[in-house]
Amino acid sequence: MIDELQSGLTSHLIQFIKDSPTAYHGAQTIAKALDAQGAIQLDERQPWQLKSGQMYYVVRSEGSLIAFRCGFKRPAEAGFMVAGAHTDSPGLKARLEKSLTGKGMERAAVELYGSPIISTWLDRPLSLAGRVFIKTQDGKAESRLIHSTEPIGVVPNLAIHLNRDHNKGFEYNAQNHLPVLLSASGSGASEAGAKAPDSGVAEALAADLLHRVTAQLGVPADRIVGSDLYFVDAQGPVRFGPQGELINAYRLDNLLGCHAILEAFLASQSAGHTQVACFFNHEEIGSLSPEGADSAFLRDILGRISALMDKNAEDLYRALAASFSISVDVAQAYHGSYPEKFDESFAPVLNGGPALKVNANLRYATDGEAEARFRLYCDAAGVPCQKFMSRADITPGTTIGPLSAAFTGIKTVDVGAPLLSMHSIRETAGTLDHEMMVQVLKKGFEQLS
Ligand SMILES: [Zn+2]
Repeated sequence: MIDELQSGLTSHLIQFIKDSPTAYHGAQTIAKALDAQGAIQLDERQPWQLKSGQMYYVVRSEGSLIAFRCGFKRPAEAGFMVAGAHTDSPGLKARLEKSLTGKGMERAAVELYGSPIISTWLDRPLSLAGRVFIKTQDGKAESRLIHSTEPIGVVPNLAIHLNRDHNKGFEYNAQNHLPVLLSASGSGASEAGAKAPDSGVAEALAADLLHRVTAQLGVPADRIVGSDLYFVDAQGPVRFGPQGELINAYRLDNLLGCHAILEAFLASQSAGHTQVACFFNHEEIGSLSPEGADSAFLRDILGRISALMDKNAEDLYRALAASFSISVDVAQAYHGSYPEKFDESFAPVLNGGPALKVNANLRYATDGEAEARFRLYCDAAGVPCQKFMSRADITPGTTIGPLSAAFTGIKTVDVGAPLLSMHSIRETAGTLDHEMMVQVLKKGFEQLS
């Protein structure tokens, strides 16, 4: 704990989380940190020139980013050391064009993104974040990131008096039950004979989501030609526990992994091998997109590095075979209220160290060889290593590891910091685990073999 307090790592993590309400903001936050350390952004449409020891990064579709530091040796001789995480999280995506008005109340329609624990999104102040495309004067579409840090809405539950069985379990319907309440002008009440509020106030209150966005951007509604907007928790991260050893925040799955990789990548010394840090969008919806882990993005980048640093077309295949990858996502932490859901021999505890994630059916990429390599990194870093395996009668989740491993052929281990309440709007993790994960990843980046 003392090391963690000295390093200020949790403070950095908290700021990173605040700056990263969506995958787009996450990639932008990572890009800014890389810029500050002298990394050069590359454009996939332009020819590249690469230099040993220099950091570069490539952004695809604003939500995915791959950074790399060229090694002192050719990739065919020394390989790539890769670490990857995902920038997205499950939640509520706004349907900007649709506005639900009735009884003077304005509500915003939503769609589920991935698999959130829906009930946790209700009765919480929500803000709006994401990207909006604006038509420019010369007829092009320009992206702008927005984040209304002030709360703008809430998804209200039905009172228990109107559904006495609510606590026996309620199935929320995304179309009917999850629209976000934005305003209430009282105009429905005035129709029924009640006193109308001041008309100016009513007009202001009745502004729908599209008008909120246009007001924030200072552009007319007809210039908005596209959007990817999400409702996110308006409350910032909270640290608790006697020694501040726990953190509760939105999107810990998988901003924890992104931040750990970023910190380790930036702190690592250059090496013979080329170090690669990947931050993929769309893991929560299966990773199948032009910029997801189940795409050619990583292989494209590795192929271009090899094309520029190696000698011939065969060298990429030699480089991939000489490489290793650590896929960092969160792991299921042991939950004392539900011991029956865990195999106690493979139930990582909070602040017990990074967890290997293992499954016979390769829901995680880890095999015995990959497990051994990660354990050796933990040994070298002086960090304890835990192991997560689901009960034999439960199928665990999956992550980017198996997908990027299959696409690149790179031996991959799946690991993660233990986490409670995975896919809740707010999740809980151990700050010490985060510190230990950074140390192990740094060892990995610096010592490929
Ligand atoms: Zn995840």
